[in-house]
Amino acid sequence: MDRKGLEIVKFLLDWHYLLTEPPVNGSIPEIYFCFVCSVYSKGKDKVSWLQFMKYLRLIDKLCNGNTLVCIPNYALSQHYEDLFRCFDRITYINRLSLALLLRTSQNLHYSQSPPNSRDGTGNSGVDNVSGESSRHMSPSTSINSTSNSRPSSAGSAVLNFVSPIKSFEGTDGTFEQPHELDIVETINLHYQRKKLEDVNYQIPVGKSERLKYVMNLIEGDKPMVSENDIYPIKMINNKRLVPKDINDTYTLTTKSNRLEQLEYLLNTECSSHSLQRERARLRTSVLPFYDCCEDNEHSSLLSTLVTFDKNTSFCKLNEDKINKIIHENKDRVNQRFLQLHKCCEVKMHFIPIVQPQTDFKLGDCSYLDTCHKISSCRYVHYGQLMPLKADAGDVIVNSNISEERKLKELYDIKENIRIWDFTRGESVCSYLNCELPAQWINCDLMKIDFEVFGNDFGVVIADPSWTIHMNLSYSSLKDDELLSLRMDKLQRDGIFLLWVTGRTIETGRDFLTKWGYNVINQITWIKTSQLIRTISTGRTGHWLNHSKEHLLVAVKGDIKWINRSIDSQIMISSTRETSRKPDEIYGIVERLVGPGVRKLEIFGRQHNTRPGWLTVGNQLEGTRIVERELLQRYEAWRRSTLG
Ligand code: SAH
Repeated sequence: MDRKGLEIVKFLLDWHYLLTEPPVNGSIPEIYFCFVCSVYSKGKDKVSWLQFMKYLRLIDKLCNGNTLVCIPNYALSQHYEDLFRCFDRITYINRLSLALLLRTSQNLHYSQSPPNSRDGTGNSGVDNVSGESSRHMSPSTSINSTSNSRPSSAGSAVLNFVSPIKSFEGTDGTFEQPHELDIVETINLHYQRKKLEDVNYQIPVGKSERLKYVMNLIEGDKPMVSENDIYPIKMINNKRLVPKDINDTYTLTTKSNRLEQLEYLLNTECSSHSLQRERARLRTSVLPFYDCCEDNEHSSLLSTLVTFDKNTSFCKLNEDKINKIIHENKDRVNQRFLQLHKCCEVKMHFIPIVQPQTDFKLGDCSYLDTCHKISSCRYVHYGQLMPLKADAGDVIVNSNISEERKLKELYDIKENIRIWDFTRGESVCSYLNCELPAQWINCDLMKIDFEVFGNDFGVVIADPSWTIHMNLSYSSLKDDELLSLRMDKLQRDGIFLLWVTGRTIETGRDFLTKWGYNVINQITWIKTSQLIRTISTGRTGHWLNHSKEHLLVAVKGDIKWINRSIDSQIMISSTRETSRKPDEIYGIVERLVGPGVRKLEIFGRQHNTRPGWLTVGNQLEGTRIVERELLQRYEAWRRSTLG
């Protein structure tokens, strides 16, 4: 085993318990990232991903294949060129085998140390490690040199069977390892010898003594050292031993350094997480933020200077009128209106709309811009004046902009940024990652066979019309009807998001479990009004006014391809039509599952249709299917129901 290999063995040994636990979770690429971090922190040589995999294979082979337990069990024999394509895991690291391998390797190197390595010159003799002359060294020579310099009981016995190992270069990707068998044999003999030695040993009864006993078996006796002695691993690094390092059985690193490393590793985010976040940042369009004007005088001054569009609830400023007022008096500028104009340039204003029936005493309409009876409602409504300096192409300002153009702008961002190379669970071919056009099926979900939709959705969103005590403009489902839907057929593995109301939070959890899911979290939508304030007045809710809604997040199957730690649990977004949910959820979902994954929305309406998604519900405008297999299944089902 060469220096790099030993470094990996030491790393696995030091961190074995952390590496197989979350967040690393045994993922081989993550272990590699951690290794790279630890090597950097120690200022050592680089080990490439391919070399790393080869070393893992070698380590496992040298330890008779029992040291690294993997899922799948052939993981180490796989040849992954690209580490982002590797999802295999190491579930268990056998510390004992690694410790023995390390000790054996140390002894191997040690046995070849030339006599002058102990004469205080600091010449470790590492350059002499390879080479045929040392390979043919007689066993007695190596025993002598070892037992003089490092009288370790286990070590010296092992060396009886050891021939010097030739160091090999991993850089060209090939391993030259002519003495592997010697090491395997050595480890086996070491095991046997231990057993023989310990036959007469009384195994302690107490817990702590037992632990000590096991540790002793693993670590062996500590080497006796003198000031001038050279620690084997140090020799490999061509350095003299610093005596305090001797306390550390396995590695060069002192305990305080290891603590430092541990802190560094724990504080360093897994690279895949930071890469996913970077990708999300590059691909997510950010809408501009505008401040709202808090000056009440401004709204009252503006009420006579704007025209209000009932259909959009937006106002338009009459610039001629305000300019005229500003310059009314030739000698002096009207400062109040000048300031107002400046404020209108950068801030958003909400202007009360005075209609003949408006009764100011009643206060704000709790529905504001979503009020169905705006032209007869006696409560106060507002028009929204966007900042004059807002970008003309901005989606918010230009409310007339078509849905299609909005989507195009959204997808232009994605198309222009080519960042496929460091993504996980995606194909590098951008053609395969293109989203399909929006698809939808108008159907009664109580009647359609769910197998028509397919069973390979990465994500499913359902917003069922739960039976609640409210008059709704659409049909609703009883709990048992909803439970009878075959939601269990839609995904082999993936995420299921279920919108629930106050009463149905518990029912929803129960249903998800029955459909085979594990509820892991919930997203809360904090509702804001047109005035960008949280909703506090009564619309729904018996005891407390409802100002939030919940989306249960459940998972099924093996979901390691899901991108974690990007978005938060909270969405703050304004209310729109009855039951309409915020579009922000699509961004969250798309970042979670990445592009090119089949996505299904159940109980969706026309405004929910989007590229990459299949939307199903009974209020959709007809049916549009572009996937051939889906079309075939749908037509077969139609034929069977008609016939
Ligand atoms: N999430 C949607 C709102 C869904 S409201 C949004 O953001 O706008 C629930 C929808 O489910 C309504 O359109 C309702 O007509 C539909 N629905 C109710 N029962 C249904 C059934 N049996 N089959 C199909 N759709 C149904």
